[in-house]
Amino acid sequence: MCGVRLRIPSLPADNPQQAEEASQAGGNANHLCQKCEVGGAYEVTASDEGYHALFDDAVRQMQTNTGTKDKVAQYWIDILLEKAKIFKRENPDKSQDEITMELLGWLRDQPDLDPTQDTPVEILHTILLGIVKYVWHLFHTSLTDAQKSLFYNNNLIGKHFKTLMQTMAFHVHSLVTLDHFNLIQSVDELGAMLWVHEISNMDMYLDDLKILIGNTLDAFAAVDAAKIINKVKLHLLTHIIPDICHFGPIIQNSTEQWPGSKP
Ligand SMILES: [Zn+2]
Repeated sequence: MCGVRLRIPSLPADNPQQAEEASQAGGNANHLCQKCEVGGAYEVTASDEGYHALFDDAVRQMQTNTGTKDKVAQYWIDILLEKAKIFKRENPDKSQDEITMELLGWLRDQPDLDPTQDTPVEILHTILLGIVKYVWHLFHTSLTDAQKSLFYNNNLIGKHFKTLMQTMAFHVHSLVTLDHFNLIQSVDELGAMLWVHEISNMDMYLDDLKILIGNTLDAFAAVDAAKIINKVKLHLLTHIIPDICHFGPIIQNSTEQWPGSKP
């Protein structure tokens, strides 16, 4: 005989599905992110403070996460203390161990999935089909017809965007402005940091990642400032850091499956 308890640790999915699971209205809503309360009406996002909030959420989010974890624990501790008091009063003959077992059993039966936080940023849709696609579109639409013939550009899917992410910086130098080149380079560097399966020094990794995410957002703002407000996938980059603290390497939450990788 064995007992099986099903638990859902997280909800990996593309961005619209994660928004739906978290009862959030999606990337076109004023508050565009399911993981925090950033954004708002145009007057808010157009203000210095509101615009900047879209960049630096990771720090606040980490503080909130640390705080929230304690608060979550404290919430359950308070309930358990109250339950223990009542249980002792009603069952004066029960031992301390029996009461502990009873309360732990109750605690295990409580739901523990938070869809607003347990929806880890998914890198196929957020990076390859999001950030890299924006970069490619900006680049491709800026080319002359003659230059376009240098690049294959139709029907691109995830694996093509991954190749572009890894190689673009080596091929476009004379074809783009300096701001645009900075953007391409920032995204390439960020991608190389995200597609890792193991992190040997978490503190150093997160410090580096924070800089690369900041560089990418700054580079986007220099090329197309409105994208920061309009595209939730850019803001979601800031949530990658707390997600990695919580779930480990972000590639583990990727839903990408290349042909040939399927069983
Ligand atoms: Zn957010």
